[in-house]
Amino acid sequence: MSDGTQSPTELVHAAKAAGLDVLAITDHDTSAGWDEAATAAAEVGLDLVRGMEISTRHRGRDVHLLAFLPDPTYGPLVDALQKVLDGRNSRVPAILGKLHDLGIDITLDDVRRVSGDAAAVGRPHLADALVAAGVVRDREQAFNEFLRPGRPAYVDRYAAPLEPMIRTVTEAGGVSVVAHAWGRSNDPGPLDEAGFADLAAVGLAGIEVDHEDHGPDTRRQLRAIASDLDLVVTGSSDHHGAGKVGHDLGCNTTAPREYERLLARAAAAAAASGRTTPEVVTA
Ligand code: AMP
Repeated sequence: MSDGTQSPTELVHAAKAAGLDVLAITDHDTSAGWDEAATAAAEVGLDLVRGMEISTRHRGRDVHLLAFLPDPTYGPLVDALQKVLDGRNSRVPAILGKLHDLGIDITLDDVRRVSGDAAAVGRPHLADALVAAGVVRDREQAFNEFLRPGRPAYVDRYAAPLEPMIRTVTEAGGVSVVAHAWGRSNDPGPLDEAGFADLAAVGLAGIEVDHEDHGPDTRRQLRAIASDLDLVVTGSSDHHGAGKVGHDLGCNTTAPREYERLLARAAAAAAASGRTTPEVVTA
């Protein structure tokens, strides 16, 4: 329901076919795909963790925060996500304006045609509209020529402050994990060990260590930080269907012991919050 190219049902079926026993669905900034995914998971016999990948900012750096098993009706979480979604929506016409200035005319309807019923519209949809218009070959070229920072149609958007968001996820009875922590840069920036200690102090539960954007050395360093700070180590494919190459389902996985630790943290947060949180769908 964001920028992956499969429906929640197709994703669940693909995960089953790939031989996974547990799948987390983590659309950008929305829980809109949860119900459909849960129905499909129960049908095919796959464990499903409902989560989302929240766009946050921290000390000048964009950080994607995975939030697993929060109550999606918790007011402060709903409000914070709405602000992020509003920022996404208002950015689309701004990008279209920049493309227009470059002599490329794409309309909001063109974007809607490729985004379908996505709840969270992002640059990958603009990339798909550029592909459909024959301007570029694929998403990669669209980002490299137009959409990434420094390119002529780039527009920034609002992201939620990270530390308050970690607290909000915990209050909603969920657990949070920093996604692809050093994925876009070899410079840890604010996500060095001291920075992670600050985040752990406000309730961060884990670090996504095993991710395709992390080389062996990065993984070793992040694993050491997680160990020092008693944070859970996760691994995930960050699969986007056909929307992102090199992220096949199951290309990275989370060790059963770490998964159990994550679930234990989630159970503790749920109990402390007093909220009704989604159960793991079990096969
Ligand atoms: P946005 O949500 O609009 O900020 O765009 C971020 C999304 O774009 C994330 O899902 C990224 O994985 C995706 N993305 C970033 N660079 C590329 C690229 N070169 N090709 C395809 N997807 C990309």
